[in-house]
Amino acid sequence: MRAYDLILKKRQGEELTGEEIRWFIEGYMRGEVAEYQMAALLMAIFFRGLNDRETVDLTMAMVDSGERIDLSRIPGIKVDKHSTGGVGDTTTLVLAPLVAACGAPVAKLSGRGLGHTGGTLDKLESIPGLRVGLTSAEVVNNVKLHGLAVAAQTASIVPADGRIYALRDVTATVDSIPLIAASIMSKKIAGGADAIVLDVKVGSGAFMKTLEQARTLARTMVRIGAGCGRRTVAVLTNMEEPLGFAVGNALEVEEAIATLSGHGPRDLTELCLTLGAEMLVLAGRAVDEERARAMLTDAIASGTGLAKLRELIAAQGGDPRAVDDPHLLPQAQVRLAVPAAGAGWVQRIDALAVGHAAQLLGAGRAKKGDPIDLSVGIVLHRKVGDSVAAGETLATVHANEWQKAVEARNALQQAIALAPEPVEPLKLVLDVIRTAD
Ligand code: URA
Ligand code: CA
Repeated sequence: MRAYDLILKKRQGEELTGEEIRWFIEGYMRGEVAEYQMAALLMAIFFRGLNDRETVDLTMAMVDSGERIDLSRIPGIKVDKHSTGGVGDTTTLVLAPLVAACGAPVAKLSGRGLGHTGGTLDKLESIPGLRVGLTSAEVVNNVKLHGLAVAAQTASIVPADGRIYALRDVTATVDSIPLIAASIMSKKIAGGADAIVLDVKVGSGAFMKTLEQARTLARTMVRIGAGCGRRTVAVLTNMEEPLGFAVGNALEVEEAIATLSGHGPRDLTELCLTLGAEMLVLAGRAVDEERARAMLTDAIASGTGLAKLRELIAAQGGDPRAVDDPHLLPQAQVRLAVPAAGAGWVQRIDALAVGHAAQLLGAGRAKKGDPIDLSVGIVLHRKVGDSVAAGETLATVHANEWQKAVEARNALQQAIALAPEPVEPLKLVLDVIRTAD
């Protein structure tokens, strides 16, 4: 086989065989297929697409470029959850302990924040002492002992994705649905879970800006899951406004603790119940969603979910007292209120603009490896549909530099729009895709 012929074949819109796709990925990883040849193939895929069979073959070839976590010695159906990324998306910090408290083992490999989106690993690292760099053996051991682990995806998991993603980033080939689907699903499959719940975000703060794009991505990923023998459910959820109130690492940990304590924001709580119910049903822990939601609600009311978070923190070397005393989390020096210019109802809180404001404060990175400030961010006081009087606080900026606080406040004033008449709150769950059609 020659890389040239396969690039030409895809450029002409023909189907690649499984053998050809595997040859290309393996050759690339061995250094026999050049970077520019991979870049050319990615661009051909961007324009010509991949069918379902090709997408599954690409996913599996990527999985086989590295190690898989073997969870087979842990009894029960192991479930994983993945979000396509958003603003203020604190879900994993609530959901992983909550679902584990209901008896479903959770092995979650997470990422870091990039651009306007936050990452679970950064949020967890705002808990003093907590380690996210677990070995695969530690992940397996912690899931066995504690029913959960939330750890960094190591370099040995789907190394092909690390290299291909970096190449896509600089060749304008990130936003291709088959490439995104293979990238996400390869990492989920290598992570070893038997069942996968995907939270596909839609709207301003998400990768997918329209419901139709998000549906296509969701269907593609559900089909890959089915093609690889993993039961997969995708929930399409709104990312027009940030999720919950808090955006920023330590601030979101506080929000997760509040949610596990039963006084979290309504949308974040609802999302955790929706995704958690799917996870418990897939894990065979509940017969239907209604029963599953009751179990999750009980785990919040009884405090077993919060106790599981303490256990997770201690198991990964962190200080579990942070759960009861949020002052142990990093605190920003400057607080600046964003007042409402007039009275009215909140019509829009642009998630992308809020994400950028948090990034400007230092909560996010412009590129991989940049340092971040765990203490800074934004706390909203209103959500879309809420009423506000003139001069009341719409949001509070948490910063460590005055100049940046003022810039973030100005950006937020632009990002939040008020209407003179009542506005409906946003619908959170837009669709659920369980089967591949
Ligand atoms: N997240 C991923 O892991 N991969 C993509 O390609 C896009 C989002
Ligand atoms: Ca949040």
